[in-house]
Amino acid sequence: MWEGKSGARTLINVETANPLNISKLVIIFFLPVEEQLRQLFEDNYDDISVGFDPPESAGESTSYLIRGIRDGVMYKEYLKQTANQGPRISLSFSCNGVPVFSSSGSSLWPVLVTINEAPMKIRKQHILLATLWYGVERKKPDVNQILYPLVSEGRILHQRGFTYHRLGEERRCWATYLKCFTDAVARCLMLNSMQFNGEKGCTECLHPGEQIPKGKGTVRVYPHIPEGELRTGQGTQDAFQAMTLNKTPFHVIPDYMHCAVLGTIRQYGKLWFDPKNHLEPLYIGGAKEEINRRLSKIKPPFYVSRPPRNTKDMKFWKAHEWYWWGIVYSVPVLKNILPNLYLRHWILFVEALFLLLQESIPKSQVFNGIELMALFTKDIEKLYGKEHCSFNVHTCEHLGKCVLDWGPLPDNSCFIYEDFNQVILKTIHSSKGVLDQVISQIRTIRSIPFILSTPAGNAILGMSVAKAERLLSPKNSVVCAQGNLEVLVLSPKLRAISREERLAFASQSVTLKMREKLFFSQRIVVNGEVFHSKTIKVIKQRNSYTDLLTNGKIFMVHKYVIVNALCYAVGTYLKSVKSFKLMADSRDLPHQIFVSKDAEPLSIVDVRDFVSKVVFLDCDYLNVNLVCIPPNRIDILK
Ligand SMILES: [Zn+2]
Repeated sequence: MWEGKSGARTLINVETANPLNISKLVIIFFLPVEEQLRQLFEDNYDDISVGFDPPESAGESTSYLIRGIRDGVMYKEYLKQTANQGPRISLSFSCNGVPVFSSSGSSLWPVLVTINEAPMKIRKQHILLATLWYGVERKKPDVNQILYPLVSEGRILHQRGFTYHRLGEERRCWATYLKCFTDAVARCLMLNSMQFNGEKGCTECLHPGEQIPKGKGTVRVYPHIPEGELRTGQGTQDAFQAMTLNKTPFHVIPDYMHCAVLGTIRQYGKLWFDPKNHLEPLYIGGAKEEINRRLSKIKPPFYVSRPPRNTKDMKFWKAHEWYWWGIVYSVPVLKNILPNLYLRHWILFVEALFLLLQESIPKSQVFNGIELMALFTKDIEKLYGKEHCSFNVHTCEHLGKCVLDWGPLPDNSCFIYEDFNQVILKTIHSSKGVLDQVISQIRTIRSIPFILSTPAGNAILGMSVAKAERLLSPKNSVVCAQGNLEVLVLSPKLRAISREERLAFASQSVTLKMREKLFFSQRIVVNGEVFHSKTIKVIKQRNSYTDLLTNGKIFMVHKYVIVNALCYAVGTYLKSVKSFKLMADSRDLPHQIFVSKDAEPLSIVDVRDFVSKVVFLDCDYLNVNLVCIPPNRIDILK
């Protein structure tokens, strides 16, 4: 079906030909993926191939755990179907519209490609830009035009593979498109299916939906149905004439960034604050001031893209901001503001999503997440009314199956593509020659994620590049080799230890002499990640110094110090308060730990015990403070 309409006119190789105007309103560029894969394999094979053939874990059964795409049912099916191929990789692509120059209604549709088997960090650094479709004057995108070059080339990549040179020989690798990520509108365009607001509009199940009046018009809703009938692969193909790139069709997968973050979390956030609901018990607009005060006290670590913004800017919140609002801030901030009945119900969604967002997830927790999500959707009608049983909320019910089929949700989300689309947007400075501007900066675009992933990139968060370079220079830093970990201690300064510090070391059987002089520092770099300390005065909006340790305890770092060539963090433990409940009969969220406000004595920790930075919430409206552990490291990796 995809060859018919557009034909070869759209197949444009920017390396060899000038762009061709399909019409005066549309321009398309296609950069052959084959050439990009070849170059990637020749230049970066060692990085890319880390996840290609992971060794079987010796004797240890891990089948209860889902850690990546290889543990997904559908991926195993693909492996079986392509068993007679030689070395092979599978690919994902995203196709989402990006509005540019909103006043003119122009839109840009980049098609981005990633290698599924490469580790996430590497995948983020090597996003391939395949197609750029640019339409002006509100020209509606034609998915046939956008995807035709990719489909044509994809068939060749699947059947013949691509070649590359390594260690003096020519090698071949087969590549198959397996997954596609889009929002609900583009997903239907792509599957040539009924719109999601038409009958049986869900691409995953046969829920008929229901057309009901809303305001002056009508809306299609998807109230919870227990045991709804799922579509089968063949069924989907028949119903939607699903596009077939090769013998195995690629799969258009529900994406949590769209259905859960920009869908459900945003939908209910807006609903609670909407003045139209001022007579409803769910309305919290009257407590805006207190909510904003609570939000303003939150100083997240640097991996959170920005500190929480005032709710008056809610309409400008980006996907990342809705993510942190939903997963971390919303439940504690709405305590005693959103009626308990509603908050208890919201907690079901937050816990379900947290469980499904974990990087390594036991299957039992996937089923738990599916169950909680169903409980959440089931009560929406009763609490909010049928018109709020949206398509996005319904799609969230399919996220658990997505984990079982394709691996953890962060591996299957539009976030990495969306971030890259934002980078593309930043390269456009005028409405003339939009695609030329993007293409001419492609090499720069690709270098940006790389720069951000280096220690220098991490270090520049919160300081100027010049200062970061100065800090990282060998004469300003000391390397401590601790086991197989290399710790870079930045700008250490020699000073005498205090009595309190000496006692902290003594309690861990490390004896220091009275008034001994040691090197102290405010920042260290471990595995390319910068850890801060509380004593940095210039950074006021961030707390990048509260850490989860390997023993499950939480530690707040005041400073770092080198003793006997080892780097230690000096600070205080935050004592967990297990007896505290947010509400008498509320569930305990697995990622939220209530901690005491009482000052603990100074202690020391070997920096090898750091697991990750956590989000610390100073809750002056509770008897305790709160610490939130991020669901995974994929979403927070820069
Ligand atoms: Zn469905």
